[in-house]
Amino acid sequence: MDSPSIAFTLVFCAAVLLGVLVRLYLASRQVRHVAQHRDRVPAAFADTVSLQAHQKAADYTLAKTRLGMLELALGTVVLLGWTLLGGLAALQSWIQGWGWTQDHPLLAQLALLAGFALIGGLLDLPLSLYATFRVEERFGFNKMSLGLWLSDLLKGTLVTVLIGLPIAALILWLMGSAGSTWWLWAWGAWMGFNLLVLVLYPTVIAPLFNKFEPLQDDSLQARVTALMQRCGFSAKGLFVMDGSKRSAHANAYFTGFGSAKRVVFYDTLLKQLSPGEVDAVLAHELGHFKHKHIVQRIVLMFALSLAGFALLGWLSQQVWFYTGLGVRPSLGAPNDALALLLFLLVVPVFGYFVSPLSARLSRRHEFQADAYACAQTRSQDLASALLKLYKDNASTLTPDPVYARFYYSHPPASERLARLGAPA
Ligand SMILES: [Zn+2]
Repeated sequence: MDSPSIAFTLVFCAAVLLGVLVRLYLASRQVRHVAQHRDRVPAAFADTVSLQAHQKAADYTLAKTRLGMLELALGTVVLLGWTLLGGLAALQSWIQGWGWTQDHPLLAQLALLAGFALIGGLLDLPLSLYATFRVEERFGFNKMSLGLWLSDLLKGTLVTVLIGLPIAALILWLMGSAGSTWWLWAWGAWMGFNLLVLVLYPTVIAPLFNKFEPLQDDSLQARVTALMQRCGFSAKGLFVMDGSKRSAHANAYFTGFGSAKRVVFYDTLLKQLSPGEVDAVLAHELGHFKHKHIVQRIVLMFALSLAGFALLGWLSQQVWFYTGLGVRPSLGAPNDALALLLFLLVVPVFGYFVSPLSARLSRRHEFQADAYACAQTRSQDLASALLKLYKDNASTLTPDPVYARFYYSHPPASERLARLGAPA
């Protein structure tokens, strides 16, 4: 290996090692902090949360953190297996043996992507089964049968193939035939694809997995319609989803844009809330639209992907990018699929270190949506609804502050309720 390749291998290994150490450090902080506070409900919640619920949340958090460590170990082995240990190189040379490389270069490259996705998907299965049928099951959250789990897996794979293969083929084709500025074209195609998915997801894809129905309750419907009109939002945009089919976890979310935009309540959440609380949660979700959080996310994604494609355009021309990661680029055939896969493997390794920025942005959005909800509805209602949500999901009330700063996309309950000015 030449020296740029060796240098890149070293940088990659250092980033992987540092990532593992930071994750272990944060997880151990979280485990210690949660375990230390397990035996006492924090004073602010003494009247609203039972010791039993508090301890369940602590145990669930500990179990999830341990599961995360298992995922980290497996993920690191798989990452090194694909790259430095030669997994990708082996897959590549096996596919080259089929003899498609000259006559059908695009097909050979798609086969590499598909093979990678298939093997990666199979490797993920045991942990996914364990997470659902051991961890979630133990805490009473799992409502899925093995049959439903399998049918989800089949449907998910089918959807991925149907929408993933065409966009992958298009990007590979652009990489091979659009000249040195292919990455600009590929970025355009990728953005178009993302916008399409943003419209298709709520209207076509999500309904393959769940039922979405307009709110049934008439008196609630009247309240909700009034609130939505007051906030300048189409009254057709509120749906109830049969989340109870899979899990006892409760949630509400907003998605889509234009005429596809909607707020979705899980039936599990709706069952728990009083009408006033439903209003408050809905107002929170509408707050996300009012503050244009979806548009902000799209713009950010546009900018980041442009930078990503430009970087990929440059990296794919550097021999050390391949050899430094354990793969030899072919001389007589396109290496585009290879470059794409290596890029997808490497980006999260380095991206992990900036992920707290996105978590922080997301927490800021949550505070903004909370403030909007307080202006439109009673802050007491939002506070009690949030508390029910934290309780239902067994989210710990005592996360390690550093861990929460790094990972949490939603502020911890104590901060959020304190901000509402309501006694928790
Ligand atoms: Zn929110």
